[in-house]
Amino acid sequence: MHIETIAIHAGNHTDETTRAVIKPIVMSSTFERGPDGDYPGGYMYGRIANPNRSQLENVLAKLELGEDAAAFSSGNAAGMAVFQSLKPGTHIIAPDDMYHGLRNQLKTLFAGILWFDFIDLSDLELVEQSIKPHTGLIWIETPSNPLLKLSNITALVKLAHAHDLKVVVDNTFASPICQLPLTLGADLVMHSSTKYIGGHSDITGGVLITPVKDEWWERIRNVQSMGGAVPSPQDCYFLVRSIKTLPYRMRGHVNNAQLMAEFLEKHAKVEAVMYPGLESHPQHQLAKLQMLAFGGMLSFTVKGGADEAKKVVNTVKLFAQATSLGGVESLIEHRASVEGPDTKTPQNLIRVSVGLEHIDDLIEDMSATLATI
Ligand SMILES: *Cc1c(COP(=O)(O)O)cnc(C)c1O
Repeated sequence: MHIETIAIHAGNHTDETTRAVIKPIVMSSTFERGPDGDYPGGYMYGRIANPNRSQLENVLAKLELGEDAAAFSSGNAAGMAVFQSLKPGTHIIAPDDMYHGLRNQLKTLFAGILWFDFIDLSDLELVEQSIKPHTGLIWIETPSNPLLKLSNITALVKLAHAHDLKVVVDNTFASPICQLPLTLGADLVMHSSTKYIGGHSDITGGVLITPVKDEWWERIRNVQSMGGAVPSPQDCYFLVRSIKTLPYRMRGHVNNAQLMAEFLEKHAKVEAVMYPGLESHPQHQLAKLQMLAFGGMLSFTVKGGADEAKKVVNTVKLFAQATSLGGVESLIEHRASVEGPDTKTPQNLIRVSVGLEHIDDLIEDMSATLATI
């Protein structure tokens, strides 16, 4: 089946008892037992599993071409479930530009429990040199935030598997429509479903997807059900609803981002544009190999410094100045000031989540804005 059909049907089946075409939200936190004390409905207790969550996990597993998925209350909770599933003392190799929320989680919550090195994953020799006897995991995030740098998933998987390491890919920036890491050999995919999967900036969620239900997956499932950082039935319902339009939304994001990147690249006030779909992207060839489409996120640097960049984000009208990404509305952000004083992000960098407004309106707004700096 094609991705559009899976997105619509894998999360929804006609309700058996009422014949409602759309499955209702099951709010019940507990489920009745049968005469023998078993659970004839297949559900026991809301923290452990819920019908709406099962529907969401089913469609997400199928979209990523995985075997099973586990939904969490946020992307950070999904990431934390991975870290909690590792034996204490495990060493993790992570990207030097890892999503700052997860990097801070490792440095703050897992200090003294797990060990980690944040390195440039595009340097395969450095990655190999960084492998220690107790290394267990390589964490990949590609394209990365906010520089849209790519990591070569196939090459890193090959290196990792030669050393008996697992590979997790944070696929949030790409979405399952633009990149399928499990087909490139990854052992686990993570998403913040707050972003493209939710797509309307109104749900916080996260997910992990596995290609096999092995012993590691069982530990992750235990973190989910015993830890209890699970999404509500309503959140699951709305995510299933959002996913139905995900393939079409992504097509719009990708088209708009490509046109916006091409517009910015030609603009006299712009220093550089970072978008994997541009020929000028240093890893454009890799992008063509490992991505199905180039996504809806781009960054650019303006000529000047922090003042010029801040003027842009404060002047645009259609782009909301807010963090996050993946919603139908365009968002814009002076990234260095979000990441704080120790950031390595250039002060003149602006990150854009290109939305689904008409591209001519977005370009007109951006053009008028750049004329003011
Ligand atoms: C937002 C984000 C996360 C964290 O997800 P939350 O839903 O905010 O907890 C992780 N990775 C990336 C790449 C993200 O953009």
